[in-house]
Amino acid sequence: MKLKIQRYCRHRKPKNMVLIDYEVPLKDVTLLDSLNFIKTKIDATLTYSSGCKSEVCGSCSVRVNGKEELACGYKPKDGDVIEPLRFMEILKDLVVDYSKAQETLKRVKSWQSGISQKDDMSYEEEKRIELQSDCILCASCFSSCPVFEVDKEFLGPFALTRSYRYVSDVRCNDEKQKIDAVQEKGVWDCTLCGECTLACPQGIDPKNDILMLRSKSVQHGYSDPNFASGGFGLEF
Ligand code: SF4
Ligand code: SF4
Repeated sequence: MKLKIQRYCRHRKPKNMVLIDYEVPLKDVTLLDSLNFIKTKIDATLTYSSGCKSEVCGSCSVRVNGKEELACGYKPKDGDVIEPLRFMEILKDLVVDYSKAQETLKRVKSWQSGISQKDDMSYEEEKRIELQSDCILCASCFSSCPVFEVDKEFLGPFALTRSYRYVSDVRCNDEKQKIDAVQEKGVWDCTLCGECTLACPQGIDPKNDILMLRSKSVQHGYSDPNFASGGFGLEF
């Protein structure tokens, strides 16, 4: 099986980004097994991230033929093209700097704030946010979102689905501030294309969470600015 892997090194001259073919004589293995084989038997300089090897830690997310996959869960095929996640700085080969994606979490206040009036939740209340709570912070959805191609300041599905998780928590005591935080470059800038939902290895549906955040925004007095301008997102 031949794999094409994007190699990147800022010091490599004249081109710092190249696609290199590797022959991997293994069958029915994961992409992470294949990367480990290449590193130990062919080229020790290949650089990638991994952690739990069981699709839980989210650290081995890469793009395979243009779609985000966890390397420890994906079974590669002959001819697959492996690249790093998009819209974050590449540090080396398949390793990216996650700080840009993590910064969006801070912008939406993605945490339980202060002391809640309610210190526990019922089984049903917990069930309501169970799916979003399963996020493994892999940033696959962040990488999949086409809006970042035209707007680097967009909050993106990674932050917005985390925001919805905390806004929907019955212990949330700053819903208004959290909803305020997703207006600018946020819920109304999403095109609802659904790429983030397709990319999520946990079956989370960020597109639907963004729709739910829009609904909560309306309850707090906001409206779609595209309707207000009559432009529907288009410049005239
Ligand atoms: S549905 Fe919205 S957030 Fe998700 S990928 Fe598409 S534009 Fe980005
Ligand atoms: S929502 Fe899904 S794709 Fe996005 S970071 Fe969480 S687990 Fe990864």
